[in-house]
Amino acid sequence: MRGRFFCLTGVFMARPLILVTNDDGIRAPGIRLLAEALGDLGEVAVYAPDRQRSATGHSVSLHHPLRVTTLRAGWHMVDGTPTDCVMLAVRMLLGRKPDLVVSGINDGANLGDDVTYSGTVAGAYEGMLLGIPSIAVSDVSYAPKHMETAAQVGRRMAEYVLANGVPEDTMLNVNVPDCPFDQLAGVAVTRMGRRSYQDEIVRREDPRGGVYYWIGGAEPAHVEESGTDFAAIEVNQVSVTPLHRDLTNHSVMHHLYEPAISLEAGVRE
Ligand SMILES: [Mg+2]
Repeated sequence: MRGRFFCLTGVFMARPLILVTNDDGIRAPGIRLLAEALGDLGEVAVYAPDRQRSATGHSVSLHHPLRVTTLRAGWHMVDGTPTDCVMLAVRMLLGRKPDLVVSGINDGANLGDDVTYSGTVAGAYEGMLLGIPSIAVSDVSYAPKHMETAAQVGRRMAEYVLANGVPEDTMLNVNVPDCPFDQLAGVAVTRMGRRSYQDEIVRREDPRGGVYYWIGGAEPAHVEESGTDFAAIEVNQVSVTPLHRDLTNHSVMHHLYEPAISLEAGVRE
């Protein structure tokens, strides 16, 4: 009966198969809380990196072999990126197409331009590319104290998406305030805001006088704009941003006048 349940009409229905991944590594608290929260919605299969893979974006491992180690039933560790995990699970290992991909719970915000660096978002993005409804879930605190709240929200989002799906070529990027669940101020559907990355590169000297640089540091600032993911978090709302596969800026295509980009030398119109 594993993987199936008997519904009231007497017809055997496949239980939803939910693929869970993250970028903080399979031993991170967030993925355990998420998998537990999703446990009774369907069959949960975890494929996650063996180590910290935050900010690896949508990278895929092309130049080394990938090993998969099963830690316990349903929990599989991959020595690759979140994208590797989803790609391997869906295209090679699961045996059937998942009904849902959930990536997280990330330790820290994935707001605004963060999504382009985020391995958490990339895990869900890969699910979207493979035609599976996909959600990324992040706790916005870099020192979370209430990650169980994000787990509850992740479960609610999973229930919603299993029932309603998501529009084609769209994934949901969910950010959750780090507070008790009953202190959340509801849900806001938002657009991507803009980060203002400054002072995040540190220049130091090692003990032998050699200079080194370290990217990363304090949480970057952001531009204050209404309707954004940042604005929702400011007022303790869960931010749900639909991200689209098509990154084309359609509205400016007509400004790029093709003859002016002529490949023939000397032609300027
Ligand atoms: Mg991370």
